[in-house]
Amino acid sequence: MSMTSSAKSPANSIAATASSMAPPLAAKSVSSLPIISAPAGPTLFEAAERVPGETLDDIRADLGECTRCRLHKGRTKLVFGVGNPKAELVFVGEGPGHDEDVQGEPFVGRAGKLLTQMIEAMSLRREDVYICNVVKCRPPENRLPDKDEIGVCSPFLLRQLAAIQPKVICCLGACSAQTLLATNQGISRFRGEWFDFRGSKLIATYHPAYLLRNPPAKSEVWKDLQKVMAVLGLQLKKR
Ligand code: SF4
Repeated sequence: MSMTSSAKSPANSIAATASSMAPPLAAKSVSSLPIISAPAGPTLFEAAERVPGETLDDIRADLGECTRCRLHKGRTKLVFGVGNPKAELVFVGEGPGHDEDVQGEPFVGRAGKLLTQMIEAMSLRREDVYICNVVKCRPPENRLPDKDEIGVCSPFLLRQLAAIQPKVICCLGACSAQTLLATNQGISRFRGEWFDFRGSKLIATYHPAYLLRNPPAKSEVWKDLQKVMAVLGLQLKKR
């Protein structure tokens, strides 16, 4: 990844622009946000059923060489997710890009490298957390996933989250936040706020790809990440 000259070290840049530690938790009910209708259909309904005790490997096996939506037609590799299956922190993006499609791993391109630096700025390693996306196959030309594609694929995300049972889910960008919170509100309306989500705390922040285009937004993201650190009891590493 090549960063702009003003952001050679995103982690340092993020940390340097941090203004304060997290304010007190203000957990919100998801129901306080407007609900958008979920796509109907047996695929969604069946896949949304959590099988008690299922593992990430079980879910991956269930996906198989998935052809449940049109996105399978353009994929090189299905990008299921990577990281610690017992992670306390899960990052959820929207979908694979070119590099992820080629390598079969989420967040490995320029935005992925920035995410790794964000994780390290939190005193964690990439392998400590779990990273996945709402859809597992690359949308053509990096377009946003369509609602019907999200409707078919996101139940597998829900099952991943149920299997991991993280303390914190951090949504990266509007797509994952809107999907999990079932809202069509813009992310700037609720970014940095806490929500209860099926036994986890959920917070949404900007996508690293957005930060590559808008480096000044790193300060907002760093505030959000500090809130996550406070919940997880993480301390900044001494330099
Ligand atoms: S995006 Fe999800 S539902 Fe669609 S083909 Fe890929 S794995 Fe299957």
